[in-house]
Amino acid sequence: MIPFSPPYIDNSIIEAVTETLNSGWITTGPKTKEFEHKIAKFCNISHVLAVNSWTAGAELLLHWFGIQPGDEIIIPAYTYCATANIIIHCGATPVMVDVTEDFCIDIEAVKKAITSKTKAIIPVDIGGLPVNYSALNKVIYENRDIFQPNNEKQQKLGKILLLSDAAHSFGGLIDNAYVGAFADFTVFSFHAVKNLTTAEGGAICINLPEPFDNSEVYKELNIWSLHGQTKDALAKTQKGAWEYDVITSGYKCNMTDILASIGLVELKRYKSEILIRRKQIVEKYNTILRNYEWALLPTTIDLYRESSYHLYLLRIKGCTILQRNEIIKKVFDKDVSVNVHYKPLPELTFYKNLGYKMNDFPVSKKLWESEISLPVYFSLTDEQISIIANAIIESYNETIMQ
Ligand SMILES: *Cc1c(COP(=O)(O)O)cnc(C)c1O
Repeated sequence: MIPFSPPYIDNSIIEAVTETLNSGWITTGPKTKEFEHKIAKFCNISHVLAVNSWTAGAELLLHWFGIQPGDEIIIPAYTYCATANIIIHCGATPVMVDVTEDFCIDIEAVKKAITSKTKAIIPVDIGGLPVNYSALNKVIYENRDIFQPNNEKQQKLGKILLLSDAAHSFGGLIDNAYVGAFADFTVFSFHAVKNLTTAEGGAICINLPEPFDNSEVYKELNIWSLHGQTKDALAKTQKGAWEYDVITSGYKCNMTDILASIGLVELKRYKSEILIRRKQIVEKYNTILRNYEWALLPTTIDLYRESSYHLYLLRIKGCTILQRNEIIKKVFDKDVSVNVHYKPLPELTFYKNLGYKMNDFPVSKKLWESEISLPVYFSLTDEQISIIANAIIESYNETIMQ
């Protein structure tokens, strides 16, 4: 069986983790701080806070920004549930909009969805393809007079917050600059199946405009990620420095040095090995599948942006959901794992019960019903790529031609 997304664990990772385990310091400490600095350098921004997941980090930001019941946050209907769940946790309302053919949030739909209650927009770089951040920033700027701040931070920002769900797009590019510097906050996921992993983990790129001081915001969020405690565990080990205070009822989502040491190894080889191989894999799929008019290839590169090649979102032209499911079944019978990214939110029981309807998002519906994700990971061989592509072609023929 060719797996869908196995982790790439080699001796260098095992050695790095062992070194941390032997170091006498396993929770947040020097490795985490080094990881934060290196991610910040990669993204060309000044401050990054490492956290224990995308979900915890993004939710922390919504609480920090004072999101509360009555507030609206615009998200695409086509995303993983985490994007919406964190809004529900704050008691606020996810306002879903449709996507365009490239799976990215529909900017025209965003414009129409903005109201005086809109406090944030969370676009999603699906599959690693960056959304059009400059268009989103422009829409937010044009609507700055509609924005109604509820607290000091919102007043200081003076506009709708742009919080990027970049769970897939670490290493994605816009005009040759890496994702991380295009939104007020950009949050990455380092979950086991993501491009760069720490097993579980995430990072917040802090990039607020003036008059915010991003180093102050870093310090504040760091405290918020540790119960609102003014000193972390490492600081308290300093001689005589036991005393601390708690200044807010904070959360608990710090990254550990064990996980950061995995991330440091991954980051070192990310640009020079991982991204290059992922791009080759996608190009090889394209070369084979391009010959079939029913195979709609994913957008991974265009005039101004390039994907991080996280997912290969293949679509089967004109197929019904039943045919798509049948193709997937036949592919698995050929010992190849594939996946579907994603069941849009209105298809999920919880969101359906809240009244969201799939028919309100026709593009998302169409994309989802015909979508099959093919494996993309560093250790996938050229031979396996051919086997996977052939399994798709044969399964299509068996399903559609019969
Ligand atoms: C994986 C994922 C998340 C959640 O990431 P965690 O680190 O597992 O919390 C959020 N959004 C999208 C689009 C994802 O794919």
